[in-house]
Amino acid sequence: MSDNELIIFPWNHNFETGIKNVDEQHYHLFLLVNKLANTLIYDDQIEVDGVFGELKDYAQYHFSFEESIWNEYFFDDIWNDEHKKSHASFVDEVIKIQTESKDLNWQESIEHILQFLIRWLVFHIIGDDKKMSVAVKELESSDSLETAKVNAVDTLQGINGLVADTVLKMYFEVSSQSIELVREKHRRFVAEKELRCLNKKLQELAITDELSGLYNRRYFNIMTPDILTKARDAKQLVSFVSIDLDYFKQLNDQFGHLKGDEAIAKVGGLLSSHFNDVNDIVFRIGGEEFLVVIVGAEHQTSISRAEAFRKAMAKLSFNCENNDQSHILTSSIGVFTQQPEPTSDIRYFLDKADQCLYKAKLSGRNKVISSSNF
Ligand code: GH3
Ligand code: MG
Ligand code: MG
Repeated sequence: MSDNELIIFPWNHNFETGIKNVDEQHYHLFLLVNKLANTLIYDDQIEVDGVFGELKDYAQYHFSFEESIWNEYFFDDIWNDEHKKSHASFVDEVIKIQTESKDLNWQESIEHILQFLIRWLVFHIIGDDKKMSVAVKELESSDSLETAKVNAVDTLQGINGLVADTVLKMYFEVSSQSIELVREKHRRFVAEKELRCLNKKLQELAITDELSGLYNRRYFNIMTPDILTKARDAKQLVSFVSIDLDYFKQLNDQFGHLKGDEAIAKVGGLLSSHFNDVNDIVFRIGGEEFLVVIVGAEHQTSISRAEAFRKAMAKLSFNCENNDQSHILTSSIGVFTQQPEPTSDIRYFLDKADQCLYKAKLSGRNKVISSSNF
């Protein structure tokens, strides 16, 4: 039974005959009834033919077992005959429902099976098995089977057809309302979960750059002022690592714009793998320009990490399938680190990092240039 499986049809001690093995078999059928009810609640599609198979197996095993018990006491008594007929009618009814289910969907079939099983369980257990088990007990102190039967009927006087019918109707109504209620609740839970997932996806899409898979400029504008304020309050250093690809226009001209796009995607992947600490955020700021914001790292650490990325980048080569040419793509990088002050906004940090980047371009490209001010 799964954690959230609900007991829609509860077992009641009045169903007990006092014969352990018989009660266990009946209880097994109650478990099956609850399992089926739960497939409806959770829209957990079940193989309907499998259920019919399970019912037929159950009937074959349980009925022959139970009949052998009653045979011992009732032989060819009419109660025994009626009881056997009731068992036989179970199998007939299961076959009939199975035939009818060919035109129904799985939920309708399960509902049909449930209605039949509950009615059968209650009437068969209360009506037949219970009566026979009381008679067996009465036999211990009676001189004949006939007397034991009369005493049993007396004992069970209260359980007449009308009472059983009333209880059964209430049982049906409450149970089917419970199924519908929990079913609705579950449907709403699933719909809300899907909505939350969709919302999350939408939010991610709005802040992600499609080509590189990195955060976009929009997210940079939203996120970074907050990052600076938090770092200022926590007295933490913030590094801006500004990265621009070298002679990127040449790659476009030589291999075409599509190859250029591929290169940007590849650089995005490389950046993500190099700057994947919890305190790193990587953005694609513009065309072939990227920015990494690192919180809480020493200036020298940020420089070393930028240097490691620059080296890895210079090892990437881009091949063109059409003309067998390959192209080495390098990057120029500016690193600026400071503990943010009330006056140092994102513009200030960007300018400082870009000044370093500019120096890297001027001094021959494929370089990391840094400055710090703390
Ligand atoms: P530098 O070393 O001075 O940075 O030279 P550069 O060629 O990289 O710089 P420049 O600013 O002259 O050219 C940048 C090029 O990047 C021009 C533009 O076509 C290309 N570019 C920008 N965005 C994209 C893009 O999304 N896809 C492709 N394929 N190219 C892009
Ligand atoms: Mg460039
Ligand atoms: Mg540029």
